[in-house]
Amino acid sequence: MTRIAFLGLGHMGLPMAVNLMRAGHDVRGFDLVPAALDAAAQAGIVIADSGADAASAADVVITMFPAGRHVIDAYEGGLLAAAPPGTLFIESSTIAVDEAQVAHELALRAGHRSVDAPVSGGVVGAENGTLAFMVGGSAEDFAAALPVLEIMGARIVHCGGPGLGQAAKVCNNMILAVSQIAVAEAFVLGERLGLEHQALFDVVSQASGQCWSVTTNCPVPGPVPTSPANREYRPGFAGALMAKDLGLALQAIEQTATDARMGRLAQEIYALFAAGDGARRDFSGIITEIRDASSRR
Ligand code: NAD
Repeated sequence: MTRIAFLGLGHMGLPMAVNLMRAGHDVRGFDLVPAALDAAAQAGIVIADSGADAASAADVVITMFPAGRHVIDAYEGGLLAAAPPGTLFIESSTIAVDEAQVAHELALRAGHRSVDAPVSGGVVGAENGTLAFMVGGSAEDFAAALPVLEIMGARIVHCGGPGLGQAAKVCNNMILAVSQIAVAEAFVLGERLGLEHQALFDVVSQASGQCWSVTTNCPVPGPVPTSPANREYRPGFAGALMAKDLGLALQAIEQTATDARMGRLAQEIYALFAAGDGARRDFSGIITEIRDASSRR
């Protein structure tokens, strides 16, 4: 049995913590929001008085916060000082690559072990214990984190040194954003040429244009009955989260002077989408913006 402090009991954190508890670990949780604490207590999680309180008796500290500044603030604001020497910090929030590297350095300097382990798979993956974890850190720290990650995830990849889990996550989501826009544009172009959705799907899903954005997240209702298009674009993966991840991708593009024109354009497109009601819609709902803009021409 491992003593785990789980900090950040929101949409993702709570179901992840519950899976660790059900696997027999001694989980103590904390969140800043009283409603999150109530929900966690109802789910059977032991609630600590503070993050530092939870960390003070932990072998492993997992953080699942909204953004990088929350992680750095919490690390510097008492977590690292409270944890026993050699505690393994698993940072699972989606944050910038350089912020993840700062978090690693802070943890190592305080005498702890550290991996960045962002996830994909959303709330359903968190509930079912089928998340994908992209992990950055030393081979030893990855090996130490693996038994814990395996309870919450179905696919765990060691991507390299500190920050490279976050690097893999931003690269993947940049591909996803660009391909979802490309698929939406192709379906709207097809509509305007008189092509039936099903016919285009039947061709593309078996041809070189095949990708997740067609075969799983098809942006028109019909061909893939489980895609968000069939439920008025209820997420799924909300536009706000895609816009956030593309903001992190843009940061990485700029820091590395990468000539990623499609990535930059995708960031602009999703920032605009998320500034309106797209924030709460599935990101495949970008097709309605493209369709509307096309009819205004
Ligand atoms: P959320 O806002 O529902 O939960 C985050 C929680 O962290 C909040 O309850 C907040 O109060 C808490 N928190 C912030 N600072 C804290 C601190 N110092 N101590 C304790 N608690 C603190 O967010 P979420 O949807 O659970 O996402 C968490 C992370 O996972 C984000 O970085 C997000 O980008 C990433 N992510 C989310 C999804 C998804 O589908 N929701 C998918 C993949 C990755």
